[in-house]
Amino acid sequence: MRVRRAAVLGGGPGGLYVARLLKLAQPWCDVVVHEQGEPDKTFGFGVGLAAGTQRKLEAADADTLRDLVAAGHRHDMTMVVDGRTARVHNDRLIGIARTELLAVLQRHAEKAGVRIEYGTRRSAGEFDADIVIAADGVSSATRSAGEFGETTELGRGLFLWCGAEFALPDALFVPVRTEHGVFVTHAYPYSGGRSTFLIETDEQTWRSAGFDRSPEPAQPEDSDETSLRYLEEVFASELRGHALIGNRTRWTRFRTVRCARWSHGRTVLLGDAAHTAHFSIGSGTKLAMEDAIGLVEALAEEPDVEAAFARYETTRRPSVERMQELARRSRLWWESFPSRLDIPVERLMVAYMTRAGNVPLDRFAATSPDVVATALEQYAGAAPPAADLVDWVLEQPLRHGKTEFPHRILRHVPDGLALTTFAENLADPWDEAGDDLIARAREARRDGADGFRFTGLTDRPALLTRLDLAERVRSEVGGLIVVNGPASLRADLAAGLVSGRCDLVSLTEEDV
Ligand SMILES: Cc1cc2nc3c(=O)[nH]c(=O)nc-3n(C[C@H](O)[C@H](O)[C@H](O)COP(=O)(O)OP(=O)(O)OC[C@H]3O[C@@H](n4cnc5c(N)ncnc54)[C@H](O)[C@@H]3O)c2cc1C
Repeated sequence: MRVRRAAVLGGGPGGLYVARLLKLAQPWCDVVVHEQGEPDKTFGFGVGLAAGTQRKLEAADADTLRDLVAAGHRHDMTMVVDGRTARVHNDRLIGIARTELLAVLQRHAEKAGVRIEYGTRRSAGEFDADIVIAADGVSSATRSAGEFGETTELGRGLFLWCGAEFALPDALFVPVRTEHGVFVTHAYPYSGGRSTFLIETDEQTWRSAGFDRSPEPAQPEDSDETSLRYLEEVFASELRGHALIGNRTRWTRFRTVRCARWSHGRTVLLGDAAHTAHFSIGSGTKLAMEDAIGLVEALAEEPDVEAAFARYETTRRPSVERMQELARRSRLWWESFPSRLDIPVERLMVAYMTRAGNVPLDRFAATSPDVVATALEQYAGAAPPAADLVDWVLEQPLRHGKTEFPHRILRHVPDGLALTTFAENLADPWDEAGDDLIARAREARRDGADGFRFTGLTDRPALLTRLDLAERVRSEVGGLIVVNGPASLRADLAAGLVSGRCDLVSLTEEDV
């Protein structure tokens, strides 16, 4: 369709990028971005941009990508637990300051002929335009006021986003045990002299450290300095003498936003306004920018607003929902992270990489052979082969108490071994149904069960959740843990074994 006038609400990455792409595709269109803030003043520190995003941006707009990459900072990834370190190479991830990201996008939008009006908060209803693109972020007033069928899910954990004025050599994942509980930082460099420190913790630790009683910062632009000073001590060794700096920094619970519809009339939602995905998969900016590509393509392909918005949603929704599902699994993994601190750091790195079912064990082994070889040696007590890792993992013997298992696939339960079977298909192993199952598992152990066998639906999401549940029971109740799944998902079962989610697996009858 031919768009004559487009109003874009919000000058974040989604709004600025869609404005530029629309103006390039339809040069006759009058495209105006309305941003409430001032240029160069934004919340947050650095964000990560992964390789997949970079490929899509290259195809859509090579000039912008070139400048984003030039402003970005490449880094590897290191996990440090109790002084032990595992490091993986990652040459396709860049960290970039949010201010730099926005400066590049503003420059390119203006170069294409977009007008940007700063400093006034506007609402979608007030524009006289053919289409209104609401890219007004996670707290979108357009979404709240409209007919988009929104739902919001709050994370259990609390996080805050701060920074430090020095560049870490690598991205860092570091948990630190304190008298109050465990705090974890995900930190990464995003310029020659700055790093993002994203710090999270569970509610009990947060309360026990007294943060629920901290005074509210006096002004909206102030940060929670009490927490920052406390966390400076906790992460003193990672900070190497530097201070933690805030920018409207406060403890928050992550909000996962979903909408039943992304458009209403001539208004369409884009980026965080339409959907969010937990920060631990670093994909919010990516999704917003990919939405922009999808929307501009749909406008070019379809004859009218209704058809274009429908096409945009149909093309974008599957990958957004896929990322939201990965992000949900990743969030649950991080929220339960403190329970894994006794696992050697290399195995923990395997658990981290395979946590959401996105990176198979053999692919991770191809990119980080040293870490994976060490993890497998810790798992089996023997050096792994160069290939066929999944089969090798399943073939390793196990000694559990007095029982010897010739390999990790349980075909027959040995005489005298009492296993209690759970066949529940839970959505979230850490919710109330999960707590209830833990109570029943404890009771079964008291009544003499040697362990548990988890079975249920055979689709992949069900198996991945079953592995999470098995891991929770293994850590909180103990005993021999067996997870059942189809042979076609043996790679996921093998990753579960190496990650310490279960001790043995069993394969569903029809697949053996
Ligand atoms: C802790 C944390 C860490 C993150 N880390 C990463 C990461 O590593 N990688 C990554 O890709 N993403 C990350 N994200 C997500 C990322 O910040 C967002 O997904 C991304 O900024 C979304 O872009 P957007 O354009 O949709 O919205 P936003 O960036 O939120 O932009 C919305 C804009 O709209 C403006 N606005 C809102 N209402 C109005 C109004 N009524 N009138 C005028 N202007 C208005 C706002 O001022 C803002 O500038 C992280 C998020 C969090 C919370």
